[in-house]
Amino acid sequence: MEVKESKLAGHSNPFESMMSRFDVAAKILGLDEDTYNMLKSPVKQVMVNLPVTMDNGRINVYEGFRVIHNNYMGPGKGGIRFAMDVDLDEVKALAAWMTWKCAVVNVPFGGAKGGVKCDPRTMSKGELERLTRAYTQAMADVFGPEKDIPAPDMGTGQQEMAWLMDEFSRIKGFTNAGVVTGKPLVLGGSKGRVEATGRGVMVTCRAALNKLKINPANATAAVQGFGNVGSISAKLLESQGIKIVAISDVTGAYYNANGINVSEAIAYSQANKNSLEGYKNAEKITNDQLLTLDVDVLVPAALQDVITKDNAPNIKAKLIVEGANGPTSANADAILKEKGIMIVPDILANAGGVTVSYFEWVQNHQGYYWTEERVNRRADRTMKEAFEQVYQASIKFNVDMRIAAYIVAIDKVASTRKLLGGF
Ligand code: NAD
Repeated sequence: MEVKESKLAGHSNPFESMMSRFDVAAKILGLDEDTYNMLKSPVKQVMVNLPVTMDNGRINVYEGFRVIHNNYMGPGKGGIRFAMDVDLDEVKALAAWMTWKCAVVNVPFGGAKGGVKCDPRTMSKGELERLTRAYTQAMADVFGPEKDIPAPDMGTGQQEMAWLMDEFSRIKGFTNAGVVTGKPLVLGGSKGRVEATGRGVMVTCRAALNKLKINPANATAAVQGFGNVGSISAKLLESQGIKIVAISDVTGAYYNANGINVSEAIAYSQANKNSLEGYKNAEKITNDQLLTLDVDVLVPAALQDVITKDNAPNIKAKLIVEGANGPTSANADAILKEKGIMIVPDILANAGGVTVSYFEWVQNHQGYYWTEERVNRRADRTMKEAFEQVYQASIKFNVDMRIAAYIVAIDKVASTRKLLGGF
């Protein structure tokens, strides 16, 4: 059955999109119906309404969600998204992605995700703090260092994680650093966490280029999105000798055939309220044009569903490394496969973030903090091993890297379920 695709990027049904890949992998694995049904259904779905006093004295009520998709491999793990398009379907899909992502990189966590339907850009710091505390109170029985461990996602960052940790610690009556990852360093965050996702994109990109026999020093790349994942991926790919010819953010895309100086672009964006608007030294093009540039590597690192059946036939990159979650719609996969384009799928490419979140949680439990060198070394090893495992599965089962990643992940979670026993 063809998955429905909306014309608007980011508005196809993400749960259906995830399930269509899950189904293919489950069939190849010969998953029995009972296990299939257990893996498909989220363990827990919580919906809350959060009254928050705004600066003008009025009370706004926000819808909040937390879904634990699976906890067979360990406690739930996944970010919290503050955005206007948050709904249960999206949170369910993102939670399931987390289950597969943790399994791909052998992190002993299950998958979870949370979100609040709000527009954080229009809210004051005080309003965001009250919202984060209200959300934490509502989820106090869901969260816990051995139960469900949130982290930042779109619209949230270190500050929200600090408020969450503080509110949770107040409720429980003791300081509880391990309840959340992506915290500021001073509160028990991990060195290397901010760069971790972009670093994993770089490591898996290098591994893929190696398989494709493309020398990074001769390669070009276009990166969509210039937030945490996009800007750091671009910077680290550049450090490997790859020429970054295009970058973009919500204001548009910026192209320079001779290469963009990424550090200079980051400095520009930081000085310009995290916006590339007005960036010189490049020609302005659209985000859609960026996707179809004649480059070796394309890194979508902004939104979901930007590569669709409509633009997939025009993609010229030889390799797509998915920094964002779900940037390629299910219908586009077949077209890209036909064109011989290799994809490092999201559940592998952007798993560096959850890997270092796991290291942060380990350090919180140890009460002993690692050097950045140790964090990076272990994270790079994890990402390289995960890439190789997925690559070998793609050969063994004669499937693309995405289905191979799902096969590796589903097999691990299903085998764990078998060991745990039935009901
Ligand atoms: P972010 O908020 O830091 O950055 C998002 C970037 O996307 C910004 O530059 C923004 O301007 C740009 N953007 C927004 N709308 C756009 C549009 N219509 N067209 C082009 N660009 C647009 O977010 P992030 O943390 O970098 O996350 C990006 C993606 O990576 C998301 O899909 C997220 O789920 C995924 N991800 C993030 C992490 C992490 O550790 N931060 C880990 C795994 C996956």
